Amino acid sequence: MPSKDAPVAIAGAGIGGLTAALALSRAGRKVCIVERASELREAGAGLQLSPNACGVLRRLDVLDALEPAAVAPAAIRIANGQTGREVASVPLGESISRRYGNPYWVVHRADLQNALLAAVKRHTDIDLRLGCEVTEVVMNGPRHVAFTLHHAGTEQPMEADALIGADGVWSSVRSIFPAQHDARFTGQTAYRTTIPAAGLPSWILINTGLWLGPNAHVVHYPISGGDKLNLVVLVEEDWTGKTWSEPASSDAVAGALANWSPVVQELAGRASQWLKWALCRVDASRPWTDQRLALLGDAAHAMLPFVAQGAAMAIEDAAVLATSISAHKSLPAALKAYEAARKPRVRKVQALAERNARIYHLSGPMAFGRDTALRLLGPKRLAGQMDWIYRWTAPE
Ligand SMILES: Cc1cc2nc3c(=O)[nH]c(=O)nc-3n(C[C@H](O)[C@H](O)[C@H](O)COP(=O)(O)OP(=O)(O)OC[C@H]3O[C@@H](n4cnc5c(N)ncnc54)[C@H](O)[C@@H]3O)c2cc1C
Repeated sequence: MPSKDAPVAIAGAGIGGLTAALALSRAGRKVCIVERASELREAGAGLQLSPNACGVLRRLDVLDALEPAAVAPAAIRIANGQTGREVASVPLGESISRRYGNPYWVVHRADLQNALLAAVKRHTDIDLRLGCEVTEVVMNGPRHVAFTLHHAGTEQPMEADALIGADGVWSSVRSIFPAQHDARFTGQTAYRTTIPAAGLPSWILINTGLWLGPNAHVVHYPISGGDKLNLVVLVEEDWTGKTWSEPASSDAVAGALANWSPVVQELAGRASQWLKWALCRVDASRPWTDQRLALLGDAAHAMLPFVAQGAAMAIEDAAVLATSISAHKSLPAALKAYEAARKPRVRKVQALAERNARIYHLSGPMAFGRDTALRLLGPKRLAGQMDWIYRWTAPE
């Protein structure tokens, strides 16, 4: 399909924006992707990549490049954070690939970003502009959208066929929507770190760990080809910081894990530095598109990371957006179709993340009931509960 003259512009070169650039280019569109940061640098943390996301990355020829840095954990081991007792173990590894045709991987975010970036650089019809910010967006009649690019104190007027706001939870593209909706703090904080794998027991290094406790839970998994362990402590607490992410002390983490299993305390004690993030939510039921504007990823639907699907949903969005744009002659109609196709599923995933927040953080007899229910459900039925998320494949 020939490239159209005016590009589709994307604000934000995060996981969602880079994937959208690749998918749109593959659909024959010229793309201009604009990133505020002058250098692409992902947080030093991990990401679980489920089969639904891996399927899109495979089609975009990114999965093979990622494989050397990825780990396929054998199982997700769910335990009570206080007693340390295992309550369930759900197989991942080969059984996931057999069941869904794509793997469940855990990766360092930078490895995924590098693989996406390398693919973007191979596409000559993708113009990546770093250190540039999209501002002053205006609808330029029915034919184009206009905006200003700010770069190192200079301003450049730009026109595009459409502008995709993949600019994250604090999206400035979203802020110009007539029915604007703000991101809200969820009352949950994530403390993140990575620790060297050397010296850790092998059962920790081959599995994903999920420890459930009162008002908090802990997730860990290997990343960087198994050289490091990604560790996240998620806590219900107020946010008093001046910015939405900042360094945190080991004492704050130790305090949140007081009365927890010594295994978890010992793991957390190995970390030399922590970063904490306020977890914010964008209501997925609000508008995602307006004429030639569309939101994608966290800009449209930032969610609690309690189903590990935020980036996966951004990756799915990118695939559906590109298909929709190739299937429709009119861009506004394509964007509307994209929103209609994505919204019900994303709302369901967002609601599941919130339900998990309540279940994961139970205490006392309710926590006992939860653990018993998980034991009774067993690995097969627990695995089956994720079918509707993992079985998704991108439309051709
Ligand atoms: C603790 C934690 C664990 C998580 N674990 C998982 C997981 O295991 N699996 C999973 O799928 N998801 C997970 N997520 C969610 C996932 O990280 C996000 O959903 C995902 O990174 C969102 O990607 P994005 O591209 O939409 O936004 P972002 O990654 O935020 O990218 C937005 C980009 O836009 C740029 N930008 C902003 N404004 C402008 C502007 N005006 N002009 C130009 N550029 C701009 C920013 O600099 C940034 O690079 C987790 C999240 C957290 C907090």
